[in-house]
Amino acid sequence: MKAALISNFGPPDVFSIDEIPIPTPGPGDALVRIKACGVNRMDTELRAGVYGGEPLDSFFFGRNIVLPHLPGIEPAGIVEAVGADVVDLSPGTFVVPHSHLSCGNCANCVAGDDNACPKIRVLGVQTPGQGVTQNISFGRQRI
Ligand SMILES: [Zn+2]
Repeated sequence: MKAALISNFGPPDVFSIDEIPIPTPGPGDALVRIKACGVNRMDTELRAGVYGGEPLDSFFFGRNIVLPHLPGIEPAGIVEAVGADVVDLSPGTFVVPHSHLSCGNCANCVAGDDNACPKIRVLGVQTPGQGVTQNISFGRQRI
């Protein structure tokens, strides 16, 4: 599949369009064919290697960026496949994933306060290899 990758931080021309393997969804994951994606401020700042004008590695989410990186915080698409543990999504379902991925298992998540999950990650930022491409695999989340 084709993917827009960032191999280095910098201006928009750091993007390259490359072929990468189609991800296989893990047990709690969904593989989604992306039909559209917004461009969030975080996407453009991450591409440039900054956040709020400060170096990206000054922030917890910027310390573990793996290059080449697949950005994309605001995707929308159609589920193509689901992992073995997914029971409430099926192929063909239109989805707009929430940009923040919580664990679903901690006390905060179980109480419905998944925005306070200590393991929360941002889709397309802290999801190495799982930003927006033609397909996307991302962690389980409430939709
Ligand atoms: Zn949690």
